[in-house]
Parts: sequence; structure tokens; C-alpha cells
Amino acid sequence: MTVWLPSLLALLLAAGLLWQWRRTRQRRQVLQSEPLSEPERTLLETRIAAAAWMSPAQRARWYQQVQRFRHGKRWLACGGHVLDEEQRLLIAGLACLLRLQDGAEQQPLFPEIRELLIYPEAFLVPPLHEPLEEGLELVDDAPDERIGEQGPGQVVLSWADVEAALAGDPVNVVVHEFAHALDEENPAGEGAPPMPRALAAEWAEVMGAEYARLQRHRRPPVLDKYGAQSPGEFFGVVSEAYFQQPAALHRHHPALFSLLARYYGLVAPVA
Ligand SMILES: [Zn+2]
Repeated sequence: MTVWLPSLLALLLAAGLLWQWRRTRQRRQVLQSEPLSEPERTLLETRIAAAAWMSPAQRARWYQQVQRFRHGKRWLACGGHVLDEEQRLLIAGLACLLRLQDGAEQQPLFPEIRELLIYPEAFLVPPLHEPLEEGLELVDDAPDERIGEQGPGQVVLSWADVEAALAGDPVNVVVHEFAHALDEENPAGEGAPPMPRALAAEWAEVMGAEYARLQRHRRPPVLDKYGAQSPGEFFGVVSEAYFQQPAALHRHHPALFSLLARYYGLVAPVA
């Protein structure tokens, strides 16, 4: 009896954990399919400018996607941040601007990202390099300051910078990091997320030419020079420009504007 008792206890514990996991999953699925409340819709529409660009069908899809995102991901407050429901809703609202294409509600929603870590403001990450030897003096071993980061399974964001984006700042850290997440869904090419076949040739041509142009430009008028370091960063930067400064992007980069309008399936007004 003493031999099999621990095994029985372990089995009961495993069964209990499995039951709890299934219950959490079921609860999340129920929440994901519930409609947004009227005040929640009003909050999204008043704080996120791109809501005004949507057709009624797109807006309905957006609400659905926001619920899937909000209740389908794990949220963690970091660095003493107090994360509330309004913040989760607005971050979900910004991220889901990138997944409003026809039929997107039937597809996995940022499947590479399982959790979001939210800091109150810019956060520090350790330097990439390590001292080679004990006692070796390093010229630059200060931690890097970031406002957002995307890594395996997670996106890290500074809430202060999300608020700046909502207020119209050209930098939109949520759009930038989730553009990286889309990019990762196609491991075959950097700066080339999964897309309809009809768009692929034009994507390669326009993005390639505009990337080379940004690399040559000393003081680009719209696009952040940060995008010139890799095709992946370029995709993040042009996506930010599309959502934050559509009229200027249209004026200076009409081909890029047109390509992104078709890729995101959401046409920004440029008048
Ligand atoms: Zn980036």
C-alpha cells in the first residue's frame, strides 16, 4: 500500500491540474466569443484614430478580433505597472488593426505571441554581450533602454509609449512589435509576412526599392531611419507610418502607401 500511495497522489494531482487547465481554457473561449460592451466600443472608437477608416463590416471584425486578442493572450504587468482592463482593450485594439483582412477572424491571431508584458515606461534590458573574462573592462556594458521588444512567444511594451501612439505620436510601438510578429509567421523571408499570392511580386519590388531608398536617404521626411537597418525593421517602420502618418506617407511614398493599404485591407484617408 505504501508503494502505490504516492503514485495515486501524483495521479490525482495531475488530474486536478488537467481539470483546472481545461476549465481556464473553456472560460477563455467563452470570453473570446462574447461581444464588446457599448462603453468598450466607444472607448476604442474615441481613442484609436483608425477606427474612423473602417467599414461597418471591418469594425465588426475588429471588435471580434479585439476580444480574441484580449482574452486569448496572457497579460503580465511588470516594473510596478498597474495594468487595467482599459489598457488591455486599447493595446488589443491597436494590435488588431494589423489583422482586419477579409477572413482574418477565421485564422489564428498572432499565433507566435502567447503573452504580453507591460511596463509603465521605457524599460532596461541587459546588454547583449557578456564580459569575456572575469575582471575584463568593457567600454559599453550599460543596459539598453527600450520602449518595446518582441521575442520568442512574447511582446514587451511600455505603456507610456502606447499612450503617446494613441495621442498621435509618429512612433507606434504596438504596431511596430506586432508587425514583427506577423513577419515571423513567414520564416522564409524577413520583412515579408504571409500574404495573398497576388501581392507577393509587387511586395518584393516596392519594399525592395523603398528599403534601398531609405538606406540612401540622409534625412528621410516620413520614415524613421531606424528602418534602414534590416528588411524586418523596415516593415515595422513603414507599418507605423501607415497608421500614424498616412497622408505624409501617401505624399512621399505613394507606391508604398498603396501596397500597405491593400495588405492591411484598411484604406487610410489621405485628404
Ligand atoms: Zn523593431
